[in-house]
Amino acid sequence: MEYEAVIGLEIHVELSTESKMFCGCSARTFGEEPNTFTCPVCLGLPGSLPVINKKAVEYTAKIGLALNCEIARSTLFHRKNYFYPDMPKDYQISQYDLPICIGGYVDVETKDLTRRVGITRVHLEEDTGKLTHISRTGRIGEADYSLVDFNRAGIPLVEIVTEPDIRSPEEAKAFTQKLKSILEHLEVSDCNMEEGSLRCDANVSLRPVGSEELGVKTEVKNMNSFRAIQGALAYEIERQKAILKRGEVVEQETRHWDDAGNVTVPLRTKEYAHDYRYFPEPDLVPMELSKDWIEEIRVTLPELPDVRRKRFEEVYGLPTHDAVLLISSKAMGDFFEECAETYPDAKRVSNWMMGELSMYLNAANLEIDECAVTPRHLVQLLKLIDDGTVSGKMAKSVFEEMFETGKLPKVIVEEKGLVQITDREEIARIVEMVVEENPSVVEDYRSGKERALGFLVGQVMRLTQGRANPQLVNVLLKEKLGG
Ligand code: ADP
Ligand code: MG
Ligand code: ZN
Repeated sequence: MEYEAVIGLEIHVELSTESKMFCGCSARTFGEEPNTFTCPVCLGLPGSLPVINKKAVEYTAKIGLALNCEIARSTLFHRKNYFYPDMPKDYQISQYDLPICIGGYVDVETKDLTRRVGITRVHLEEDTGKLTHISRTGRIGEADYSLVDFNRAGIPLVEIVTEPDIRSPEEAKAFTQKLKSILEHLEVSDCNMEEGSLRCDANVSLRPVGSEELGVKTEVKNMNSFRAIQGALAYEIERQKAILKRGEVVEQETRHWDDAGNVTVPLRTKEYAHDYRYFPEPDLVPMELSKDWIEEIRVTLPELPDVRRKRFEEVYGLPTHDAVLLISSKAMGDFFEECAETYPDAKRVSNWMMGELSMYLNAANLEIDECAVTPRHLVQLLKLIDDGTVSGKMAKSVFEEMFETGKLPKVIVEEKGLVQITDREEIARIVEMVVEENPSVVEDYRSGKERALGFLVGQVMRLTQGRANPQLVNVLLKEKLGG
């Protein structure tokens, strides 16, 4: 039997507000000394009272509007009760049946199709503290003891829940990427996956192709990279397929992605809503969001990735494929536009960004705004190619060096004496030398072996350390060989 994967994602995003969700503590605590950004409210001390952070509500509404959701006029916080050492109050203030945003969608472009992924809800809650298990692997099972840091406790956290509309690991990755780009454009979160400000849980089940019913799902937690999301889902789909093929049933459970081992492992059996004993938070009043306030927020929305993509296609004449990649993060889009402002050929900028630049970024595991190459570097390099100072091939080695050192291309060219040789006489002299030194190859070429020419071109390039203008080398060689 053929199976189809059904995937729904739950994405948690830490908002980049100044202060925490229900107290005045700074929310910018990543990397700080543990337990130095806390107060009686976020430590859950008896008698302390929460106050709602208006900016966090505004950011959540912004997210909802950007995801085509309806913004609730009446909304409410609930207590979600559970006991875990990372949660000082032993309950989390979250939202239950009256979230701030409901019923939106995101269009996700993949290689083959555009998938509309429904957004079930977007709600606001508070983050928990952070546990560090002291053991070689960092796993709780092997730990002698654990340390707790409450700096993160109480940071505003938005949860975005999708409908089970996603059909493959690739689509799940593309969705998360698109969502991240939208959030970056909104400037409501720094979306740093490694630091945990954007975290993804994936729910996945299988069903026979053609069936409309949903199968039993598992939920995979702890994926903090796009690679992990794709890897964990691919693994889980194969695991479930094997179970179903044996005629057994998948157990509904929560699993953990083990990034090092490339496997998912069972974490716990699934808890249900009633286990949490949700009830309306008695220390907070219900929120009434006025229509005017929501409209005020709507007009502050920036240009979002879909609109930006169309603009890139229309204004710069880029193919859709290029435009989709260039809006995949705000920083990529900004980099491109900055180049396109000072360089006339936008498609060439795009080619270099998707080619060399992306290749080096991937290899170094860096984001575009974390590397040494700036739009000024790239534009200067392209201009050096245009005026014949360097060949396309030399430009690639200049690129490599500027990526590593951050030196401007002009400086690199000067330091290395990398100027292209375009002088006919000079190249002709070397061509002559190469022809004389390789009589048998010349013979091959004259007897019809076209490929022999490539070898001779290579020899000229070698003798000039790659600096000879390649077109000129070809022309002069053919002249010399009487081709
Ligand atoms: P739970 O009560 O287990 O948290 P929810 O109904 O809240 O489940 O859904 C959580 C996420 O799981 C959503 O993203 C939803 O789209 C997805 N989901 C629900 N049922 C399935 C299923 N059978 N297969 C895959 N994903 C599912
Ligand atoms: Mg759920
Ligand atoms: Zn506090």
